[in-house]
Amino acid sequence: MSGFSESGMLPRTARIRELINESPRVKTFVLDARIIAKPGQYAMVWIPGVDEKPMSISRADPLTFTVANRGPFTERLFGFKIGDNLYFRGPFGNGFVIRAVKNVLLVGGGYGVAPLRFLAETALQKRMVPTVVIGARTASDVVLEEAFKELKVKTFVATDDGTAGIKGSCVDVACSLMDKEKFNAVYSCGPEKMMVALAAECGKRGVKCQLSLERFIKCGIGVCGQCACGGLRVCHDGPVFDSRVLKGVDDFGKRTRDASGVAHDL
Ligand SMILES: Cc1cc2nc3c(=O)[nH]c(=O)nc-3n(C[C@H](O)[C@H](O)[C@H](O)COP(=O)(O)OP(=O)(O)OC[C@H]3O[C@@H](n4cnc5c(N)ncnc54)[C@H](O)[C@@H]3O)c2cc1C
Repeated sequence: MSGFSESGMLPRTARIRELINESPRVKTFVLDARIIAKPGQYAMVWIPGVDEKPMSISRADPLTFTVANRGPFTERLFGFKIGDNLYFRGPFGNGFVIRAVKNVLLVGGGYGVAPLRFLAETALQKRMVPTVVIGARTASDVVLEEAFKELKVKTFVATDDGTAGIKGSCVDVACSLMDKEKFNAVYSCGPEKMMVALAAECGKRGVKCQLSLERFIKCGIGVCGQCACGGLRVCHDGPVFDSRVLKGVDDFGKRTRDASGVAHDL
């Protein structure tokens, strides 16, 4: 097993030791490596000659990524087999702020649950009590449910069509949990419109909320400006932000930028 590169800026190589098909579109890559990182941080995964892309750290030891097949880079990644080498740099970004409060609610939509798994593991080590809500469109899109259950974390599933768990959005489920039980903090990662709704519901209930944003990341160190969301550099100042910070940010929930920097509505 390879160790931690002190700089984090140089690519390291690691062998894929396990592949798990989470859903038809999502695969987990377990590497023969570990990384010193905080939940919510990401690594830049590099396929030489193809591209380098940000992926949330889903576990630090062994280093694990949970990846949705969305386009050219992830399609190539899906062709990798056990024993193949992957390159990565990192960790990058700030990560979630974890105060050792008791009850925390983790709300993930789609592959957004990936960083929440690392967060749940860390919260358990700190003797916190995490509860997770996994949101997906349909039963076959639910990812990492077993991983959370293995951790013995109280896990709720919400699907838009009701084919698994509770019919509705993960925000609906999070609201009903918050109305029954006191949570000291909420952490979320997933589609931005979902997180806008969740932040509003947390605000109404006076619960602190941290959200992990996704923007097009190129440099990872805050110099190129590609990932700007209002005045925030998601790659370096984030990807995790307190919902109170995002409240004053025009682009939050509204606009993102593509690879060439052109702004688009979300
Ligand atoms: C902090 C962060 C953490 C992420 N964690 C995960 C993860 O754990 N699992 C996962 O499956 N995906 C994750 N992503 C998204 C992942 O980087 C993109 O899905 C991937 O880059 C798509 O590349 P592609 O060539 O396959 O698809 P493309 O067809 O090129 O793009 C598909 C979508 O991915 C977005 N995307 C493409 N390149 C980037 C980039 N350099 N940075 C950000 N978004 C991009 C595009 O805007 C588009 O919406 C994360 C993104 C960020 C910013």
